[in-house]
Amino acid sequence: MDLNPDAQVDTSQIEDQRGSGGRGGGLGGMIPIGGGGGRGGLIGLVVTVVLVLLGGGFGASQLLGGGGGGGQTDNGNLNQECSSANPNRLQNLDCRNALYVNSIQNFWQGELPQAFGQQYRPADTVFFAQQTNTGCGPADSGMGPFYCPPDTKVYIDLTFYKELTDRFGAKGEFAQPYVLAHEYGHHVQDLVGTEAKMRQAQQRDPGNANRYSVALGLQADCYSGV
Ligand SMILES: [Zn+2]
Repeated sequence: MDLNPDAQVDTSQIEDQRGSGGRGGGLGGMIPIGGGGGRGGLIGLVVTVVLVLLGGGFGASQLLGGGGGGGQTDNGNLNQECSSANPNRLQNLDCRNALYVNSIQNFWQGELPQAFGQQYRPADTVFFAQQTNTGCGPADSGMGPFYCPPDTKVYIDLTFYKELTDRFGAKGEFAQPYVLAHEYGHHVQDLVGTEAKMRQAQQRDPGNANRYSVALGLQADCYSGV
């Protein structure tokens, strides 16, 4: 995978909620989403499909340690490390992921009007550490990256990539943009109404709720491939 060495990283599409580290703790008494209450609507990653498509050898050396806290956005560090003044910005995990988000959204900006006859609406990606609050309720890193329709944001703890490498053996360099593109696929499904239709189908036909949800995930994989 090649990155344009002159690429400008637009960090305005990222909300960095990781804080400056050392905040620790954060929200107590987390209730994992998907297990009961909350507003539902949380759409996670279909890891198995990712694994089929990946290969290669992007090391895990640049992965972050995670700093705790969450909720407050402060892009100060991100802006600095990803500025064009930093010649090594594309070796930086944060900046690469911000660039993937830019690239994915840039694609849909052009493609959505052609494919679906409607304008694309940008969605931010939130970098969080360990846990955060979302429009879908409290979330933690164990849930993996997800898209939250009520607040139209993608959430990711970048340490997920370490798990992807270590636990699932998905070491390929393309794993990271693929994960983000999958979540933006869910955003597209939200924009064009597929997600709402899926929810309606689940209510009409609860016995097949899981099948509908899997189909939505597979379509998001398709959009990721696109
Ligand atoms: Zn998904």
